[in-house]
Amino acid sequence: MSQTTTAPTIGFVSKKTDVRWIPVIGLEVHCQLKTETKLFCSCRYEFGASPNTLTCPVCTAQPGALPVLNREALALAVRVAVALGANVAPRTKFDRKNYFYCDLPKGYQISQFDQPFCTGGGLTLPSGKRVRLTRIHLEEDAGKAVHDRGDMTLVDLNRAGVPLIESVTEADMQTSDEAYEYLTSLKEILQYAGASDCDMEKGSLRCDVNVSVHPEGEGWRTKVELKNLNSFKNVKDAIEHEIERQIEAYESGDKSKFPVQETRLYDATTQTTRTMRSKEDAHDYRYFPEPDLVPFHVDAAFVEQQRTMLPELAEARRARYQRDFGLSPYDAGVITGSRAVADFFEMVVKLNGNAKETANWITNGVLANLSDPTIPAKTIDELPFRPHDLAELVELVTNHTIHNNVGRTVLRTMFETGKSPKQIVKEQGLEQVSDEGQLEKWCREALVGKDKVIADVKSGKTKAVAALMGPVMKASKGSANPELVQKILLRIIQTEM
Ligand SMILES: [Zn+2]
Repeated sequence: MSQTTTAPTIGFVSKKTDVRWIPVIGLEVHCQLKTETKLFCSCRYEFGASPNTLTCPVCTAQPGALPVLNREALALAVRVAVALGANVAPRTKFDRKNYFYCDLPKGYQISQFDQPFCTGGGLTLPSGKRVRLTRIHLEEDAGKAVHDRGDMTLVDLNRAGVPLIESVTEADMQTSDEAYEYLTSLKEILQYAGASDCDMEKGSLRCDVNVSVHPEGEGWRTKVELKNLNSFKNVKDAIEHEIERQIEAYESGDKSKFPVQETRLYDATTQTTRTMRSKEDAHDYRYFPEPDLVPFHVDAAFVEQQRTMLPELAEARRARYQRDFGLSPYDAGVITGSRAVADFFEMVVKLNGNAKETANWITNGVLANLSDPTIPAKTIDELPFRPHDLAELVELVTNHTIHNNVGRTVLRTMFETGKSPKQIVKEQGLEQVSDEGQLEKWCREALVGKDKVIADVKSGKTKAVAALMGPVMKASKGSANPELVQKILLRIIQTEM
């Protein structure tokens, strides 16, 4: 088959049949809102708390207990909707979604069926691709069933009633990379909006994927839902695996193997999926309006108020950092990858006015140390020092008080001790020596017996002087100003030797 079709990069051409298979991918993302209390009661939620300690009659479904909507949850949800350019409905209501599982004490989940609080909106991926959102709705989380205690199943209801927003995309994606980009961009917006931690390891962001494939030019075929995807990389791998599995099934010609509407669980260790259950249709949940909660009116003023609470989002910051600070797209991308890092960066720049050097010290210094397993701090919020300390360090390096390499050591010590850079420099005597008399003495010592280097330099190979830098730096315990040392060495060789 000719490879020159209209969209040569989309889909997979079968080696067996020459058919081009086009994948269709949609995502459903559940995200825990970062509220003080649960969606319908005043219990707090904290990941990892002792089982069943964060509960009350409402979230454990005691008879007669009634739900009351948490206004803060609605505010955060609306803020996310605004950030995603979605339409907030002026009237919204809650519904009961009925199903039976041991971690769902009421026997139903309070969710939103036909009148979600917002519809539409979407995201433009860095590649320029637009992914549309169908809707976002608010719902409560279920508890947790713990199956790893021998033949017992234990139930922890701490998570029951925690506010979630579920966002559903149109099936606009065609590659696993697009799904990955979408998740990264969505996470960024949720974090910048202050709506969620989006920590997949703690379950505050969960993602289900719908995948189908069809021959180019034909209609869509049966979609399969993938669950149990606990990292963005798993999402990507699972999609790739599922596309391959479906193409193989269709190409086998054996109708009994064709994909059916079902939910499959992804196993990251074997990188395979297996059937979990046949996928329910909405009518299986017997939705009906929640009689204990009246429909809500969300007025325009409330929506506008939430819009004003939105900070400048990552995309806008990336553009501004490049335009106003002259940062490279790469540095701007790394710094805005987390709102906490971007906020920290801006606080430092406000103090020292040196965006380029600060960006450098954050990407190569601070973030590198944070990813070092021997350093206790794991995130920017856990740093043992404040923005003005980093501002001070950048200044010490740029005004040549200390050498760049010494700066790295100082930063490391800041991570280990939390001391200020000036204090560390003073205590360890790290100040750079620019006193020419002292430098000249070290240079003359280093030149002793280095006839070959001297001859090379004299014959025009000035770069040979680099061989003398090590001994001088060593003699000065790293404190010599290297630019001055080089100048002095060349001057001595060229004028006196
Ligand atoms: Zn409660």
